[in-house]
Amino acid sequence: MNKFIDISMLITPSMMVYKNKEEKKPMFSVANTLNKNGSYETTLTMNLHTGTHLDFPLHMIEKGSNSTNFNLHLINRQVKVLDLTSVKEVITQQDLVNKNIEQGDFLLLKTTNSQSELFDFNFVYLSESAAAYLVKKGIAGVGIDALGIERLQPDHQTHHLLMHASILIIEGLRLKDTLEKTYTMIALPLSIPGMDALPLRAVLIHE
Ligand SMILES: [Zn+2]
Repeated sequence: MNKFIDISMLITPSMMVYKNKEEKKPMFSVANTLNKNGSYETTLTMNLHTGTHLDFPLHMIEKGSNSTNFNLHLINRQVKVLDLTSVKEVITQQDLVNKNIEQGDFLLLKTTNSQSELFDFNFVYLSESAAAYLVKKGIAGVGIDALGIERLQPDHQTHHLLMHASILIIEGLRLKDTLEKTYTMIALPLSIPGMDALPLRAVLIHE
Protein backbone atom coordinates (compact mmCIF):
# COMPACT_ATOMS: atom_id res chain seq x y z
CA MET A 1 0.00 0.00 0.00
CA ASN A 2 1.11 3.54 -0.72
CA LYS A 3 2.48 5.11 2.45
CA PHE A 4 0.91 8.47 1.63
CA ILE A 5 -2.61 9.62 0.88
CA ASP A 6 -2.26 12.63 -1.38
CA ILE A 7 -4.87 15.18 -0.29
CA SER A 8 -3.83 17.93 -2.70
CA MET A 9 -5.23 18.83 -6.10
CA LEU A 10 -3.55 18.19 -9.40
CA ILE A 11 -2.53 21.49 -10.97
CA THR A 12 -3.49 21.36 -14.64
CA PRO A 13 -4.97 23.81 -17.19
CA SER A 14 -8.35 22.07 -16.84
CA MET A 15 -8.45 21.76 -13.06
CA MET A 16 -11.43 22.99 -11.04
CA VAL A 17 -11.14 26.65 -10.04
CA TYR A 18 -13.36 28.91 -7.97
CA LYS A 19 -16.60 29.70 -9.84
CA ASN A 20 -14.88 28.42 -13.00
CA LYS A 21 -13.32 31.85 -13.46
CA GLU A 22 -10.92 31.95 -16.39
CA GLU A 23 -8.44 34.15 -14.49
CA LYS A 24 -8.17 31.57 -11.71
CA LYS A 25 -6.96 28.85 -14.06
CA PRO A 26 -3.22 28.17 -14.06
CA MET A 27 -1.50 29.22 -17.26
CA PHE A 28 1.41 27.21 -18.57
CA SER A 29 3.50 28.69 -21.33
CA VAL A 30 6.65 27.55 -23.01
CA ALA A 31 9.49 29.90 -22.07
CA ASN A 32 12.31 28.07 -23.79
CA THR A 33 12.58 25.04 -26.03
CA LEU A 34 15.47 22.67 -26.58
CA ASN A 35 15.66 23.51 -30.26
CA LYS A 36 15.61 27.28 -29.89
CA ASN A 37 17.18 27.89 -26.48
CA GLY A 38 19.10 24.73 -25.60
CA SER A 39 16.78 23.78 -22.76
CA TYR A 40 13.11 23.30 -22.13
CA GLU A 41 11.49 25.65 -19.60
CA THR A 42 7.88 26.34 -18.66
CA THR A 43 6.41 29.45 -17.09
CA LEU A 44 3.48 28.98 -14.71
CA THR A 45 1.15 31.89 -13.91
CA MET A 46 -1.26 31.05 -11.11
CA ASN A 47 -3.47 32.69 -8.52
CA LEU A 48 -2.26 31.65 -5.06
CA HIS A 49 -5.81 30.57 -4.13
CA THR A 50 -5.97 28.08 -7.00
CA GLY A 51 -5.75 24.44 -5.96
CA THR A 52 -4.89 23.28 -2.46
CA HIS A 53 -3.66 26.24 -0.45
CA LEU A 54 -3.20 27.85 2.91
CA ASP A 55 -5.06 31.13 3.53
CA PHE A 56 -3.43 33.83 5.67
CA PRO A 57 -5.37 36.55 7.55
CA LEU A 58 -4.12 39.12 5.01
CA HIS A 59 -6.57 37.49 2.57
CA MET A 60 -9.53 39.02 4.42
CA ILE A 61 -8.14 41.45 6.98
CA GLU A 62 -6.44 44.78 6.21
CA LYS A 63 -2.83 44.46 7.43
CA GLY A 64 -3.58 40.91 8.59
CA SER A 65 -0.64 38.55 9.05
CA ASN A 66 0.86 37.02 5.93
CA SER A 67 3.07 34.14 4.90
CA THR A 68 6.31 35.69 6.18
CA ASN A 69 8.05 33.43 8.72
CA PHE A 70 5.26 30.86 8.62
CA ASN A 71 6.08 28.07 11.09
CA LEU A 72 5.87 24.69 9.35
CA HIS A 73 5.18 22.97 12.67
CA LEU A 74 1.68 24.44 12.54
CA ILE A 75 0.61 22.20 9.65
CA ASN A 76 3.00 19.27 10.01
CA ARG A 77 1.26 17.48 12.85
CA GLN A 78 -1.62 15.21 13.78
CA VAL A 79 -4.92 16.07 12.12
CA LYS A 80 -8.42 14.70 12.59
CA VAL A 81 -10.56 13.94 9.55
CA LEU A 82 -14.27 14.45 10.29
CA ASP A 83 -16.63 12.59 7.97
CA LEU A 84 -19.34 15.09 7.03
CA THR A 85 -20.36 13.42 3.78
CA SER A 86 -23.97 13.19 4.98
CA VAL A 87 -24.16 17.00 5.22
CA LYS A 88 -26.10 18.84 2.50
CA GLU A 89 -25.13 22.40 1.44
CA VAL A 90 -23.75 23.73 4.72
CA ILE A 91 -21.98 22.46 7.84
CA THR A 92 -23.71 23.84 10.93
CA GLN A 93 -22.86 23.68 14.62
CA GLN A 94 -25.39 20.83 14.84
CA ASP A 95 -23.25 18.71 12.50
CA LEU A 96 -20.20 19.15 14.74
CA VAL A 97 -21.51 18.81 18.31
CA ASN A 98 -21.37 15.01 18.27
CA LYS A 99 -17.85 14.90 16.85
CA ASN A 100 -14.80 14.42 19.03
CA ILE A 101 -13.31 17.93 18.83
CA GLU A 102 -10.72 19.02 21.39
CA GLN A 103 -8.77 22.17 22.08
CA GLY A 104 -5.74 22.45 19.81
CA ASP A 105 -7.11 20.07 17.16
CA PHE A 106 -6.45 20.53 13.46
CA LEU A 107 -9.60 19.35 11.69
CA LEU A 108 -10.02 18.29 8.07
CA LEU A 109 -13.67 18.47 6.99
CA LYS A 110 -14.49 15.69 4.53
CA THR A 111 -17.68 16.43 2.59
CA THR A 112 -19.31 15.41 -0.67
CA ASN A 113 -17.12 18.10 -2.30
CA SER A 114 -14.38 15.46 -2.45
CA GLN A 115 -16.48 13.26 -4.72
CA SER A 116 -16.25 15.46 -7.81
CA GLU A 117 -13.47 17.22 -9.68
CA LEU A 118 -15.88 19.77 -11.17
CA PHE A 119 -16.62 23.08 -9.47
CA ASP A 120 -20.00 22.96 -7.73
CA PHE A 121 -21.59 26.37 -7.21
CA ASN A 122 -23.49 24.81 -4.29
CA PHE A 123 -20.38 23.38 -2.63
CA VAL A 124 -20.65 22.41 1.04
CA TYR A 125 -19.19 25.13 3.26
CA LEU A 126 -18.72 26.00 6.92
CA SER A 127 -21.48 28.17 8.35
CA GLU A 128 -20.91 31.10 10.67
CA SER A 129 -22.45 29.11 13.56
CA ALA A 130 -20.11 26.20 12.95
CA ALA A 131 -17.12 28.54 12.75
CA ALA A 132 -18.15 30.16 16.03
CA TYR A 133 -18.42 26.70 17.61
CA LEU A 134 -14.89 25.81 16.42
CA VAL A 135 -13.57 29.09 17.82
CA LYS A 136 -15.20 28.26 21.16
CA LYS A 137 -13.62 24.80 21.08
CA GLY A 138 -10.21 26.42 20.59
CA ILE A 139 -9.08 24.46 17.57
CA ALA A 140 -5.76 25.33 15.91
CA GLY A 141 -6.70 24.84 12.29
CA VAL A 142 -9.32 23.67 9.85
CA GLY A 143 -9.12 22.36 6.31
CA ILE A 144 -11.95 21.81 3.87
CA ASP A 145 -12.36 20.07 0.51
CA ALA A 146 -13.84 23.16 -1.13
CA LEU A 147 -12.07 26.08 -2.80
CA GLY A 148 -13.73 28.33 -0.23
CA ILE A 149 -14.43 27.67 3.43
CA GLU A 150 -17.53 29.83 3.01
CA ARG A 151 -19.91 31.08 0.36
CA LEU A 152 -23.10 33.17 0.36
CA GLN A 153 -21.53 35.41 3.01
CA PRO A 154 -21.17 39.01 1.77
CA ASP A 155 -19.20 39.92 4.90
CA HIS A 156 -17.16 36.69 4.95
CA GLN A 157 -18.12 35.95 8.56
CA THR A 158 -16.70 32.43 8.58
CA HIS A 159 -13.29 33.60 7.34
CA HIS A 160 -13.29 36.51 9.79
CA LEU A 161 -14.28 34.45 12.84
CA LEU A 162 -11.57 31.89 12.16
CA MET A 163 -8.87 34.37 11.23
CA HIS A 164 -9.47 36.66 14.20
CA ALA A 165 -9.10 33.57 16.42
CA SER A 166 -5.79 32.75 14.67
CA ILE A 167 -7.23 29.49 13.34
CA LEU A 168 -5.37 28.36 10.23
CA ILE A 169 -7.43 27.66 7.09
CA ILE A 170 -6.58 25.20 4.33
CA GLU A 171 -8.80 25.16 1.25
CA GLY A 172 -9.02 22.90 -1.78
CA LEU A 173 -8.23 19.59 -0.08
CA ARG A 174 -9.13 16.24 -1.72
CA LEU A 175 -10.27 13.86 1.02
CA LYS A 176 -12.08 11.04 -0.78
CA ASP A 177 -9.41 8.49 0.17
CA THR A 178 -9.47 9.32 3.88
CA LEU A 179 -11.39 7.84 6.80
CA GLU A 180 -12.73 9.55 9.90
CA LYS A 181 -9.66 9.20 12.10
CA THR A 182 -6.43 10.84 13.18
CA TYR A 183 -3.56 11.01 10.71
CA THR A 184 -0.17 12.67 10.56
CA MET A 185 -0.17 15.38 7.91
CA ILE A 186 2.86 16.55 5.98
CA ALA A 187 2.13 19.82 4.21
CA LEU A 188 4.69 22.09 2.63
CA PRO A 189 3.75 25.50 1.25
CA LEU A 190 5.98 27.23 -1.26
CA SER A 191 8.37 29.56 0.52
CA ILE A 192 7.13 32.99 -0.60
CA PRO A 193 7.07 35.76 2.04
CA GLY A 194 4.42 38.46 2.32
CA MET A 195 1.57 36.59 0.65
CA ASP A 196 -2.18 36.23 1.36
CA ALA A 197 -2.08 32.51 0.48
CA LEU A 198 0.39 29.81 -0.49
CA PRO A 199 -0.02 26.72 -2.68
CA LEU A 200 0.30 23.58 -0.61
CA ARG A 201 1.30 20.00 -1.26
CA ALA A 202 -0.28 17.97 1.51
CA VAL A 203 -0.28 14.26 2.27
CA LEU A 204 -1.51 12.11 5.14
CA ILE A 205 0.53 9.15 6.34
CA HIS A 206 -1.09 5.71 6.54
CA GLU A 207 -0.37 4.44 10.06
ZN1 LIG B 1 -8.13 30.98 -0.28
